[in-house]
Amino acid sequence: MTVVESGLSWRNEDLGARIRVALWLRDEVGEGSIFSKARLREAIQGAEQVDRRMRDLRPAGWVIKTYRDKPSLQPDQLYLESMGLPVWEQEHRAAGLRQISAKTRRFVYERDGHMCRRCGHAAGEEYVDAPGTRVRLTLGHVNPHSSGSAANAEDLITECARCNETVKHLTGVQMTKGQVWDRMTELPKRHKQDLLAWMKVDFRPLSQAEKTWGLYRQLPAAVREELQRDLEALMRS
Ligand SMILES: [Zn+2]
Repeated sequence: MTVVESGLSWRNEDLGARIRVALWLRDEVGEGSIFSKARLREAIQGAEQVDRRMRDLRPAGWVIKTYRDKPSLQPDQLYLESMGLPVWEQEHRAAGLRQISAKTRRFVYERDGHMCRRCGHAAGEEYVDAPGTRVRLTLGHVNPHSSGSAANAEDLITECARCNETVKHLTGVQMTKGQVWDRMTELPKRHKQDLLAWMKVDFRPLSQAEKTWGLYRQLPAAVREELQRDLEALMRS
């Protein structure tokens, strides 16, 4: 059932795609229901960016699960678990939106070596613990618990989509000081020194090898194989 009130309908093409997607979910799907991406794309025409707009709802508190989160779903199905802020209302229109310019985005990816700075996986790589699932990079807040908008490179960090989701939902399951201390003391001395250096600058700089790895990971598989052979040959000579 479609609720039309003061032009606030997903059919209103003057509204932004994110708002239209939110209204469509509210009026045509509802909390606790499954929908298909195809249905959404059909409803909101011309929005090849529809997936992206839907993801943009997550920072505004919308919980939309995919088949990766919920095994009972088909790959083209999504599950609207709960609605977040009413982004169609003037005061919430910018909720969770970060206006990051393409230039800033490129700069941050470049700076971070095209790697997730939380788990170290590079773009396109398969997760070690989830073969078949490839890493998609996105940008996150340096401090995941700070709200508000961050459009500056120094507030942003390259994350894979998985860490990005996890970090957002981490609130309340942080480890205790003692648990982290135990891990710290178990580290070999060299790693303790590294860790201390990172703590002092509150940042983990990438080594040249890690940066090169990030670049290598962006190449097609066939080229990566060639490079591996070339490097092996170089090391032997
Ligand atoms: Zn990650």
